[in-house]
Amino acid sequence: RFDVLVVGGGPAGATAAIYAARKGIRTGVAAERFGGQVLDTMAIENFISVPYTEGPKLAAALEQHVREYEVEILNLQKAVKLVPGADIVEVEFANGASLRSKTVILATGARWRQMNVPGEDTYRNKGVAYCPHCDGPLFKGKRVAVIGGGNSGVEAAIDLAGIVAHVTLIEFDSALRADDVLQRKLKSLSNVTILTSAKTTEVLGDGQKVSGLTYENRNTGESVKVELEGIFVQIGLLPNTEWLKGAVELSPRGEIVVDAHGQTSVPGVFAAGDCTTVPYKQIVIALGEGAKASLSAFDHLIRSSAP
Ligand code: FAD
Repeated sequence: RFDVLVVGGGPAGATAAIYAARKGIRTGVAAERFGGQVLDTMAIENFISVPYTEGPKLAAALEQHVREYEVEILNLQKAVKLVPGADIVEVEFANGASLRSKTVILATGARWRQMNVPGEDTYRNKGVAYCPHCDGPLFKGKRVAVIGGGNSGVEAAIDLAGIVAHVTLIEFDSALRADDVLQRKLKSLSNVTILTSAKTTEVLGDGQKVSGLTYENRNTGESVKVELEGIFVQIGLLPNTEWLKGAVELSPRGEIVVDAHGQTSVPGVFAAGDCTTVPYKQIVIALGEGAKASLSAFDHLIRSSAP
């Protein structure tokens, strides 16, 4: 039985575990894949105080730091059910095992929705990107496309237009879905082309990196090629919270609703990072949120009557 059981081993979960262990309480981390999204990242240039690192290196450092403490790490464990109780919360895993803890910190992160077109996998991190805050500066002076005309796509296009030479925004539907104020801003920019009723069909590359894309004009059926160096896919970030439906309050987007302390709708259950309603999904934010949720869990423990 743990005092703090963290579910998820990305930046948020690793930080939560370290902060809990440093209080001298029984801490466990169960993760499907220790390291989280960081494992899928190449260059990281906004992990402040470290001007440049790479995902696998940062993931290894996160794990090494956790291993400096008395934390029970259960890797390759997929949580499938959360069962809240009066003083104890139970987490069930896909392998049939279950763990009990006085407090639980949910840090299961999120995943970017993919286009699922040929070339996307091949050129991920080689021109195909998902995070403009992270990778925008890598495309300074180059040509990029943004896939998706919702708020995040249009925000990304506006952001990137200030850095890159040219942005082509590609929306599947016949109209953009972003807020009017964003659409007006986008349309005022001279280096942005907006394409609607356009279905991205392939990511093209030279074997090393992206060289363009093709899309289908959905009105005419014509296939069109665009030459460019980068593609930002902005068609949704899906929180890994399917398994929590009905157990904790989720937002309409499936994010775990947390307050300023990382407290969820269930007493003793906290959450941090990309799986929550906290805005802006970034490594440094996930780290900070993990620390906060862990301190809140500790606070809960010292106030609760359970021995
Ligand atoms: P995650 O990193 O998603 O970790 C979630 C953890 O939970 C994983 O261990 C996962 O296996 C586990 N998990 C999920 N479901 C379950 C389950 N049911 N049971 C058990 N465990 C589960 N951010 C930056 O700041 N800078 C960058 O340069 C940057 N580049 C990026 C590039 C790419 C390609 C991607 C995909 C993301 C990038 N990000 C970047 C975003 C950053 O990686 C995330 O914001 C950050 O990793 C979120 O941390 P997290 O701990 O909340 O979640």
